[in-house]
Amino acid sequence: MNGRTPSEDSPAASGMPDRPPDAPLPLPPLKGVVCEQYVRCGKAECRCQRGEPHGPYYYRVWREGERVQKVYVKASELDSVRAACEAHRELTDQIEEMRRERERLTRGLQESWRSTKRLLKRPKKRSRKI
Ligand SMILES: [Zn+2]
Repeated sequence: MNGRTPSEDSPAASGMPDRPPDAPLPLPPLKGVVCEQYVRCGKAECRCQRGEPHGPYYYRVWREGERVQKVYVKASELDSVRAACEAHRELTDQIEEMRRERERLTRGLQESWRSTKRLLKRPKKRSRKI
């Protein structure tokens, strides 16, 4: 569920000082990509039957678990939805990078813990004949 409820993000919270006061608020990051689609309406006499399909129409498409979701994007929202998808992609990349970094750190910790345990387990006869 990636519902966009404009009422939830107040102008104060979004904190972008250089935005003109009457500019629309940027959308929160949105999953998916914007795809364009041309369609045939099915009317026999229509130009779309002669190879001039209607469109493009824009949709945001994303995966939600097993299902592919698709919502229509108005031409007036195209730029902001694309920007929101891009923002989501960047966030996802950053999260993935942090996840890898955490894995690296965890492996390092486990390795030093293992060697610490090896040291602790070492039999105490280490003192050579004095
Ligand atoms: Zn048509």
